[in-house]
Parts: sequence; C-alpha cells; structure tokens
Amino acid sequence: MFKPYHVYIEKEALSYKQTKELKKQLESRHLPIDVIENGQTKVAKGRDTSGDEVLMISVYKNQEFRAAPPFADYAIPFVSGCVGRCEYCRAAQCRSFVRVYVNENDLLKKVKRYAQKGLAVTFEGSLEADPIPTEPYTHALAHMIEFTAKQPNVFFTFTTKFTDVDSLLCLNHQERTKVRFSINTDTVISSFEEGTPSMKERIMAAFKMMKAGYPVGFVIAPVFVYPNWKEDYLMLIKRLKEYLESAHPSQPVTFEIMAHRFMKVAKNHLFQVVEDPYLPVDIQEMSYKYGPYFYGKNSYDVATMDQIKELFEFGLAHLPFNYEIKYIV
Ligand code: SF4
Repeated sequence: MFKPYHVYIEKEALSYKQTKELKKQLESRHLPIDVIENGQTKVAKGRDTSGDEVLMISVYKNQEFRAAPPFADYAIPFVSGCVGRCEYCRAAQCRSFVRVYVNENDLLKKVKRYAQKGLAVTFEGSLEADPIPTEPYTHALAHMIEFTAKQPNVFFTFTTKFTDVDSLLCLNHQERTKVRFSINTDTVISSFEEGTPSMKERIMAAFKMMKAGYPVGFVIAPVFVYPNWKEDYLMLIKRLKEYLESAHPSQPVTFEIMAHRFMKVAKNHLFQVVEDPYLPVDIQEMSYKYGPYFYGKNSYDVATMDQIKELFEFGLAHLPFNYEIKYIV
C-alpha cells in the first residue's frame, strides 16, 4: 500500500467533506500533514527528483474532461502522478508528486452532463496515473464503479499494474467497468518498472476481477525486443493460460499490444530524471515514424513489428478462453 512520507493540502480543498475524511485517515497513520496556499505546490517537492512519496490533496478545476482516444471517450482525473517508477513513463512526463482530487462529486455530476447527450460514453480513469495505489485513501474507483452501474449509457475503464483490488471485488458493477491489467515479462518488469508488482501478482489480481464478474483486458506494453524476448513473451502467454484456466471470464478478454517507441524529447527528459537509464533509446536501432500534427516517434522497423505481430497472434491462439486482440502496434 502506498504510504506517503508527507501530505500537503491545498487551502481550497479544506472545505470538502472528502478532505476531512482523508485528513482523519491520514492523521490516524501519523503522517505529517501541512496546509499550503492554493497553487504553492513547489513547497511539496519530493525527497528525490520525482517526489513520488508526497501526497497532495487538491481540487480539480478544469471545466471539461480531456478526450481519451483510443481507450475511451474522456479521461476522468481522480489522481495524477504515480508511485510506480517505470522508466518509460518518467521519460514521457514530468511528475512532481502524487495528487488526488477531492471534488469527486463535481466530477461525477460532470459525467452525468456528458452522458445526457444520449450516446454511450466511456470514461477512462488512469490516463494521468495508476489509480489503484491511492484507492485505499480516496475510494474514488469504488464510487465511480458504483455510480457507473446506475447510469444507463455510461461505461468506465482503467488500466493498472497494481494488485490491491480486493476492495473492488464485492461492488455492484453491472459489468460496466472494464479493468485492463498492464502486464509484461519479468525481465521487463525488473528492468524498467521499479516499484510495481510482478507478472504473476498482476495476473492473479486479474483472476480475482474476472471471478468477480468484471470485464477484463490486458495491455501488453511496451513490448521490448531484447535477447530471448520471444521466449519470454511466450512464457508470459503460458502463464496467462495456466493462471486463468479456471477464471471463466464473463466477456471476451481483450488484448492491446504496443511495442516500445519514444519521442526524442522523452529521451532527453529521461536522461534528466534517471541517472543511468536501462531503457533502449538508441535512435540508430529504431526507425522514425511521423504521426499526426507533425510529431514523430522512434519505433521498431517493419520487419521487427511483423515478428511481434506474428508472435502474439500465434501465442494468444492457445488461450483457453475467448479473447479479442484490439490492436498490435
Ligand atoms: S505504473 Fe503506470 S502510471 Fe505509474 S509510473 Fe508505471 S507506467 Fe507510469
């Protein structure tokens, strides 16, 4: 469980009922708590450059939700910053601390407003951070899952690498919340995903969610090509087969598979925040692809991508349950 070493509350969050409950809970754990002026978050710089161990309690102020394609229609921001220390994530964004938002009721009202347009609308709860580590404090996922179950055209999804899912198992979810577990080989996890649970623990958490009737998917990303990568990814699929044999998922299990890629700006940022990164960011070994709005990324060449596709299509065909490959990119 995430245990911050220092908690800061922005003044404007103090009037919220959720802040009072959170404060009580954090005080009972003897955590140091300071109230700061709104926006004065620089005082909350963490113990190291990422500041993962500081918890900031704030009010979310943006008027509209961000679009979140291809995973969902909109992102709902319960938390930003993450206790995980995955190198590729640190390369892509500049984080300073874990921040939770206490005006959850305002966010849920906004969800209702978006849903009034009549069409089915899906919200994504993990675009800015993994939401599981802060769940024991905020219960934001539990509230959203139960809220979603009561709205006729709302769906909810989130991705996680973490495994503390027990508090979600007994909720009334009506199969309207989909949990996507981000998994990878043990080599990748131990090299690049410091501070996150093992492959086996993640699959076992997925098993529990399947047993509780939730629709479940797997995000296998980033897929890295390294010595023995084929054997390792086939072993990962073998583990899925073994551990999930008796799960009997209620809906086809989805797979989203994404190969490693990076932007030059992310490479530069990585070298600022990680002293000696393991992440393969050697531009000579990758090919450059242009994306929308003139942004481009370095990614594996076509022949390597073909091998990745072939491996997953072959391996997943042996799973003992219904599945759907959403994409391999
Ligand atoms: S667990 Fe997810 S959100 Fe957290 S650092 Fe790793 S990739 Fe980023």
